[in-house]
Amino acid sequence: MAEWRRVTPIARGIWSITEAGHVTMWLIVGSERALLLDTGMGFVPVRPVVEVLTALPVLVVNSHHHFDHVGGNHEFDEVLIHPYGVDRLASSPPPSELHGYLDQYDRVLAAAASVRDVDHELLHLFDADSDPAPLPPGFDRDGWQIGPSRPRSTVGDGDRLDLGGRVLEVLHTPGHTPDGICLHDSSTGILFAGDTVSSGPIYAHEPDSDVADFTASAARLAAMKDDVSLVAMSHFGRVTAPPYILQSVADAFADLAYARHRVRRVRDAVGDTVDEITFDHFSITTRPS
Ligand SMILES: [Zn+2]
Ligand SMILES: [Zn+2]
Repeated sequence: MAEWRRVTPIARGIWSITEAGHVTMWLIVGSERALLLDTGMGFVPVRPVVEVLTALPVLVVNSHHHFDHVGGNHEFDEVLIHPYGVDRLASSPPPSELHGYLDQYDRVLAAAASVRDVDHELLHLFDADSDPAPLPPGFDRDGWQIGPSRPRSTVGDGDRLDLGGRVLEVLHTPGHTPDGICLHDSSTGILFAGDTVSSGPIYAHEPDSDVADFTASAARLAAMKDDVSLVAMSHFGRVTAPPYILQSVADAFADLAYARHRVRRVRDAVGDTVDEITFDHFSITTRPS
């Protein structure tokens, strides 16, 4: 059984902070300040975890506005998001969505318990970041709320975030949501992809998802794969992937209209029905046809 929250060093000055079975945040530390990409579920505070890893001032950047990425925003003074995310951050998700998420997670926990033994013996699909953990001690299930939060400023395509000795370039990558961004660390080649890339389902079915935008963003990321050493993601399966996944995802979006024969109907993380089209190393979900 995985710990509820795990910290893993990925490269010098870079850690993943995973809320196992939910979401992964990324802490990137320069010589003058640190950047925390996303703030997690907001079940329990995340700032104490960050403060163990760095004493530098922390700039929070949201990869996009979805509730599973912004739950700890209120713990930090300086939060940035793409301009398209500002209004979206200003309202809280409806309680029904949060309850739907927890109900669906209960199902995931029960299902994981039934397959964990065979997974450990044979399959090895779960790792410590993806094996669903029970909700953390002290979590107030009925009182759980997210935001709203107000960003200090915004980040847009081409912006460069200088942490001291490490500069992260912002890429606007709409598709999953209009406000989606990725960060590229040219010093290590790591691409922080948020929900734009996944080794599980890639969600193109959200109310403000746009498949055409997603196709263009995926092609853009594939075009820069030679400058990428590792893709660092937020959810599902493994939260890091080699750069070839960028080309695979771009090819999948380009072929999506011709792959509908592989569709199956599943539920997403909040229990909504979606169409899932499976590819070799991931899948793409769309709104039900
Ligand atoms: Zn999302
Ligand atoms: Zn997400």
